[in-house]
Amino acid sequence: MTVIPRSHPRYRSLVVRAGLAEQMQRGLVVPEGLMAHGRGEAFDYLLGERTSPSAARAERAAAAKLLLAKHPVLSVNGNVAALASREVASVARAIPHLQVEVNLFHRTPRRAELVAGELRAAGVKTVLGVRPTARLRGLASDRSWVDPRGILRADVVLVPLEDGDRAGALVQAGKFVIAVDLNPLSRTAKVAQLPLVDELTRALTRVRREALRLRKEERRTLEKVADAVSGPELRREALRTIQERLLRLSKARA
Ligand code: ATP
Ligand code: MG
Repeated sequence: MTVIPRSHPRYRSLVVRAGLAEQMQRGLVVPEGLMAHGRGEAFDYLLGERTSPSAARAERAAAAKLLLAKHPVLSVNGNVAALASREVASVARAIPHLQVEVNLFHRTPRRAELVAGELRAAGVKTVLGVRPTARLRGLASDRSWVDPRGILRADVVLVPLEDGDRAGALVQAGKFVIAVDLNPLSRTAKVAQLPLVDELTRALTRVRREALRLRKEERRTLEKVADAVSGPELRREALRTIQERLLRLSKARA
């Protein structure tokens, strides 16, 4: 592997890329996942590579919604396992009834095992979806497999970096979908009831922190927090964040 100098201004981004490339060699990440990551990076640039105030509110609402849920599930694909297994494990610890399920767009038994292995190594005790036996309606082939103990019976699903079709099928199946997607224009962000327009590790870290803060609150308080945001408004605010930033930058002298 190439050595990345610490002094490089985009050190973190380069380290993450090298990690993803390595995980692709192992078969955990698919080539399409690298492209999806590139699109995410582009939107993060536009958003200023930090959590916007509206994303922070959305992440607080997400924590409340997950705490209120009967069967909350966090869905994990190859990119999520490669980028944020530790954060997934921390969210699962902060919300003890939350289940973690492997959910692959390009599913093979080996990839499912690799994702599960990554999650277990990071401290996730139970990983569902390694050999799923149920299917979601409205989706073709491999993409429809779900675990009957997990996503099939879930009421709230946290789906980072999900494809628009599958997020839509989850909504059709009556689930409340919380998406993590840096692109406020993507179909995923549009169909999800609660889109978190933020980078994956930042989003999960905040969801965890808010869950720990809100854990002892009464249902009524949690319901208020969860209802304080709306999907269309969050997407508009993300677009406004980008617009205002570009406008400011376009007027700057240097
Ligand atoms: P669709 O319109 O079907 O939702 P898409 O544009 O979302 O398509 P996908 O390949 O389904 O494309 O999803 C990748 C999405 O994940 C992109 O929108 C990208 O912005 C987002 N993304 C990639 N990496 C990250 C990341 N680290 N954190 C948050 N979002 C990310
Ligand atoms: Mg998408």
